[in-house]
Amino acid sequence: MKIALMARNPKLYSHQRLVEASEARGHEIQIIDTLRVYINVASHRPEMRYKGEKLEGFDAVIPRIGASVTFFGTAVLRQFEMMGVYPLNESVAISRSRDKLRSLQLLSRRGIGLPVSVFAHSTSQADDILQMLGGTPVVIKLLEGTQGIGVVLGETPTAAKSMIQAFGGLKANILVQEFIKEAGSQDIRCLVVGDRVVASMMRSGAEGDFRSNLHRGGRADSIRITPEERSTAVRAANIMGLNVCGVDMLRSNHGPVVMEVNSSPGLEGVEKATGIDVAGKVIEFLEKNAKPNKTRTRGRG
Ligand code: ADP
Repeated sequence: MKIALMARNPKLYSHQRLVEASEARGHEIQIIDTLRVYINVASHRPEMRYKGEKLEGFDAVIPRIGASVTFFGTAVLRQFEMMGVYPLNESVAISRSRDKLRSLQLLSRRGIGLPVSVFAHSTSQADDILQMLGGTPVVIKLLEGTQGIGVVLGETPTAAKSMIQAFGGLKANILVQEFIKEAGSQDIRCLVVGDRVVASMMRSGAEGDFRSNLHRGGRADSIRITPEERSTAVRAANIMGLNVCGVDMLRSNHGPVVMEVNSSPGLEGVEKATGIDVAGKVIEFLEKNAKPNKTRTRGRG
């Protein structure tokens, strides 16, 4: 196969591993710096160029689109799709998953367990928001945050109210959630490839931090997940229409609750914690599924 890897930084662990895994399995792979692609949108024969040359002859494309370049990145991916190149994840599914609220709405509609969550823009009714959640403690999140930045814990009503109001002052969209205390500053990341969880890890927050993000100093360990967690992760991936993703969940008293579904999951933490060749599994998935003009177009909404 000839594979395009859309990635901005070729030196990132995940990108290097995908290149290694492709080459080890006898494929040709080209890293394409997403933001340097230009597209002819008006032609009836869709065309894309890169560094003065036409991009053509690809069987599959692996999109690794950072949150800050979602708009341009999904446009480039869509163009690949129009040219009949098989996408590891489809542009529409990536756009869908980038909107945290839309994702939660889709997941809740299909009965996936979620933390009780209130979404708001105006914060004038902070008391009522807290009441809807059954009081404090609550977690307050900026909807556009990533890597745990913009996620705070409001332990008392006074603290929670002033945090909600402070975020409101930024004119941001916020999500206020019940705090899943019993998760004990740990969350579970399941790597889904196709219809299977191929690896899973437990992330534990740094001392004194309720957030378990590795970027915030958290630690990752391999973990055996329960059948319920496994089926929740696979169903969440399916609802989002993602072939490959990282499903983050918390172990709550009422079963697994999903926090987020990530369409470009990092491979470093999970491969190092579990010793599993996740990159190889991704390429294997492409070998089985990449056919010209074939997209699965799953998920709705
Ligand atoms: P980001 O997308 O920025 O990583 P998350 O929503 O994943 O933000 O939250 C960051 C971390 O905070 C999570 O990994 C988890 O450890 C913790 N966390 C988030 N929401 C809750 C919650 N409702 N209850 C308990 N801990 C939470």
